[in-house]
Amino acid sequence: MRFDIITIFPEMFESYFSRGVIEKAIKKEIIEVCIHNLRDYARDKHKQVDDRPFGGNQGMVIKPEPVFHAVEAVKKKEQACVCLLSPKGKNLTSQMAKDFTKCPQIILICGRYEGVDERIAQYLATHEISIGDFVLTGGELAAMVFVDSVSRFLPGVVGKRKSVEQDSFSSNLLDHPQYTRPRSFRGMEVPEVLFSGDHKKIRYWRQKKAFEKTLALRPDLLECKKTAKENQNDLEQPRTQMKGKDNESN
Ligand code: SAM
Repeated sequence: MRFDIITIFPEMFESYFSRGVIEKAIKKEIIEVCIHNLRDYARDKHKQVDDRPFGGNQGMVIKPEPVFHAVEAVKKKEQACVCLLSPKGKNLTSQMAKDFTKCPQIILICGRYEGVDERIAQYLATHEISIGDFVLTGGELAAMVFVDSVSRFLPGVVGKRKSVEQDSFSSNLLDHPQYTRPRSFRGMEVPEVLFSGDHKKIRYWRQKKAFEKTLALRPDLLECKKTAKENQNDLEQPRTQMKGKDNESN
C-alpha cells in the first residue's frame, strides 16, 4: 500500500516514519510512504504556494494550482483515494481506517495557514478527513495519524494480529484495563482475578471492565450498535457462573 503526502514541511515526517512499528512496516515493504514538497509543484518563479483570501480576511490560503499539479503528478493508480486533511472533514474512525486499507494508493494533502482553496475539496479530493473536533496549525500531524491508524490494520504491520482485533473500537467497546509488574505499586494492587489462572473468569472480568469503561467514558459507542441494556444483559449471563471475591469482579 502506498501513501503519498503533499506538504510544505517534508522534513517533519522524517522522525516519525523512521521509528517503531511504522518504520518496520516500511522496511518490510508492506507500506511505502513518499513525501512530496508542495513548493516543487509551484510553477511561478517564486514557488508561491499561498495567497491572500478573496473577499478579504485574515491569513493566507493554499493555492489550488500547486496542489492539483502535485496530485496529478504523484497519482499512480486509477483507484487512488485523495484525502484532504481538514477540521471540516469527516471524523476519522477505526472503521474508516480499516476500510482505507482496501485502497492501493492514498494521497494525503496537508493544509496550512487559513486552510486550502475550496476547489481542492470540491473537485480534487475524494475524501475530506478530520482527526478530531479541534484545529491544528497544519495537516502534517493529521497525516501521520492517518498513516499510522490505517497501516496497523494491514497484515504483518502489528506482530500479533489478535491484539489489533481486541483493541478499542474493534467491537463497540473500549479496550479492557491492562496491568503488568509489579503486582503492588505504592499500595495500588493489581486485581486478584488476573492471578486466578481461570481464563474464563479473566475473560469475563475483562469484558465487564471494558463495558464499564465504555459506559463511563464513551456511552455513544454502546448506543451505535447495541443499547446499554442489551450489553448489560450480555454480561448478566456469565455473572451467575462467577462467584469470586468482590475485588475480583470490580
Ligand atoms: N481555517 C480552517 C478552519 O477553521 O476550518 C483551519 C485551518 S488549519 C489552521 C490549517 C490546516 O491544518 C488545515 O488546512 C488542515 O490541513 C490542518 N488541520 C487542522 N485541524 C485539523 C484536523 N482537526 N484534522 C485534520 N487536519 C487538520
